[in-house]
Amino acid sequence: MADTDWSEQGLCRSADPDDLFVEGAAQNRAKTLCSGCIVRTECLAYALDQRIEFGIWGGTTERERRALLRRRPTVASWQRLLTTARAAHERISGAA
Ligand code: SF4
Repeated sequence: MADTDWSEQGLCRSADPDDLFVEGAAQNRAKTLCSGCIVRTECLAYALDQRIEFGIWGGTTERERRALLRRRPTVASWQRLLTTARAAHERISGAA
């Protein structure tokens, strides 16, 4: 899977892109779209690895992503970290 192939499966694909680039309290409403998205992990990892500053990605606001990046400054690949964590969670929960 190429770096952004996951985006084809995003729930926001049929939404107005402007809905994900909002400010203030509207961000919390925008994030709800991501809650049922099957590529949420890939989307968040991409935004973190690419240091995307604006918009809702993977159910996070820009402020939340900045906080994650500050808390974990040594992470070289969020894609690897998050997909490994998801696989471990699925193993433990019996989802895989
Ligand atoms: S997680 Fe949210 S922003 Fe990312 S693809 Fe899914 S719906 Fe779109």
